[in-house]
Amino acid sequence: MRIKLKIIPKPSEGTRTVIESKVSPIFRGDGESDYICGHCKAVLAEKIRRGQIKNIVVHCPKCGQYSEFP
Ligand SMILES: [Zn+2]
Repeated sequence: MRIKLKIIPKPSEGTRTVIESKVSPIFRGDGESDYICGHCKAVLAEKIRRGQIKNIVVHCPKCGQYSEFP
């Protein structure tokens, strides 16, 4: 299953955990869900178990937008 992440404005410094990467997917696991960028649909996290990634913000290496994991 594919889950589209929510785009958020760039978080102010120190308020959120922001993961920056130059490659995608940034995370790879052995679960059932792929998380895609809410803007360009690049796969940011592949085969993630539900709830495995929480409360972080990822900087999309493709379009430069910030996506939030709920
Ligand atoms: Zn993107």
